[in-house]
Amino acid sequence: MIRVGLGRDLHRLVKGRRFLLAGVELPAKRGELGHSDGDVLAHAVSDALLGAAALGDIGGLFPPSDQTWKDADSMELLRVVFGMVKQAGWRLVNLDCVVSCEEPKVLPFRDRIRQSLAQTLEVSVDCIFVKGKTGEGLGPVGNGKAVEALAVCLLEKE
Ligand code: MG
Repeated sequence: MIRVGLGRDLHRLVKGRRFLLAGVELPAKRGELGHSDGDVLAHAVSDALLGAAALGDIGGLFPPSDQTWKDADSMELLRVVFGMVKQAGWRLVNLDCVVSCEEPKVLPFRDRIRQSLAQTLEVSVDCIFVKGKTGEGLGPVGNGKAVEALAVCLLEKE
């Protein structure tokens, strides 16, 4: 049996915060605002996995109203999510992601981001891909006010 999952997230960019993508910190003037560390890609990937396995969503599992998750390491949340997915008998076949922001450039960090996700999700790095896009000057991403991440995953179980 195979299942596809989709995740999407958007975070406001502000001064004084780190810019994290799947636990990799990119040098940037502004970073992701969030109740957790704001790692937009970790959140989109978590929701893709949860959606494919029909196990809920991160807003429900780790609600912003719960102080437990204040400034939480989102890769730790992803590890919890992947543990649930594995417990339900699933393994990851592949994961494809798009990160959209005006700056910083994602491409120089792509392989580190892929490696971080591959290690956490227990697959080889060739099962993970990440693209960087801009907002072409349009909308909150194009205005440099936000970063958006999309993720699609395929899960398989016997
Ligand atoms: Mg989020």
